[in-house]
Order: sequence, then C-alpha cells, then structure tokens
Amino acid sequence: MAKILIIEDELELVKVLRSYLENAGFSVITSLRGDSGLTTWHNESPDLVLLDLNLPGMDGIEIAKAIRKEASTPIIMLTARVEDTDRIIGLELGADDYVTKPFSPREVVARVKAVLRRSQPPETAAQVVQVKDLVIDEESFKVRQSGSALDLTRTEFAILLLMAQHPGKVYTRLQLLEAAQGVAYEGYERSIDAHIKNLRSKLGDKADQPRYIETVFGMGYRFKED
Ligand code: CA
Repeated sequence: MAKILIIEDELELVKVLRSYLENAGFSVITSLRGDSGLTTWHNESPDLVLLDLNLPGMDGIEIAKAIRKEASTPIIMLTARVEDTDRIIGLELGADDYVTKPFSPREVVARVKAVLRRSQPPETAAQVVQVKDLVIDEESFKVRQSGSALDLTRTEFAILLLMAQHPGKVYTRLQLLEAAQGVAYEGYERSIDAHIKNLRSKLGDKADQPRYIETVFGMGYRFKED
C-alpha cells in the first residue's frame, strides 16, 4: 500500500483528500504545517507528497527544495495560482506535477496514481536506450551523459526516454504529457514546455541550436536525429 503525505493547512481540504485517497487504497498521513510536514517526511518516508504552496512554518517551495536535496520522492504541488506553475515545475523546485485549486479530489487521486505508476519499474523488461552520448536506463531511472549522471525528475525522465526511443518522431505536447503522467489533461499541455526547458538545461542543450531536443513549431518536440 503506497503511503501518501499531505502537507496542507486547510483542514477541510485535508479531510476530503484523505477520504478520497483512503478509498482508493492509499495509506495517508497528514501535516497542517510546513515545518512539521518536512519532519514527517523525514520520519515516515512516504511514497509521494501532496504539497501545498502557502503553509505556516515553512512554505511549499522551501519544503520541495529540502526534499529534492535528499531524495527523488515524487511531489505533486497544490497551488492556487496558475502563474506559479513555471516556477513549480522549474529547475529550482523539480516537482513532478501540480494541480491548481479548486480541484476535484478525483483528479488529485488520478494524478497520484499516474505519478506513482511512472515511479514504479516497468512491467515489461526494462531496457537501456543508448543514443548520442546518452545512456538512459529504464530500470534505475538513471541517465548518463558521456558517463556523468544527470539528475532528472521522473517526469523529465519519462519525456526524454520516450523521445530518445524514437529519434526524429514528432510528439505533441499532449502525447508527451500522457507518456509522462499516464493521463493528459487538456489545458495542462503547456506544462510540457517547462519540463522541456528543464531537460534542455540539464542536458546543456540549447533551443536555438539543439543537439538533443528540437522544437517543431506548431506541433511539439522531437529528439534530433544524427
Ligand atoms: Ca495554504
């Protein structure tokens, strides 16, 4: 049973999320403060964190940074403002996904399942994709570039793996989102741009002179063929 930590200060929201997640078969622990939430994360090692942005004690940004320093625990941010999303998925934070308030608890449960699904080892035989100077290991979620390990989020990993498996093939934002999260929500396609931006930065790739990821205007992205 996967363990979900909810760090959120709106008690009613916590109650609703807890009940939906428990009905879906998850074990749920909660914290109403940021500082105690981080302590709980340390003590309980949850499989996933649902993290509010504005919290007493310590804000969600600081908590996500602190978690990322130590572990790749999947994080889904709960945010009230759409304009925060670039920052949330941005490099400085590395959250795996976000939902904007007000949200339906059902949608949150679907996101939790999707993020956890892509954190699990694949059912089919894991493969190692070697392309250009990259070695992408599906089993360990590790990517090496000329031998050096890259620190990718699960979402970035899924996007890179899919594109690198099929160099030259153009993927729409919705397709990439679906591959990364198992589900794709209309209106969230643009979050892919933030993930691509992070990937490029981590790969040392440039949008105007790409070695790996090409923007295909009006369509989406593709892994560059040699
Ligand atoms: Ca709050």
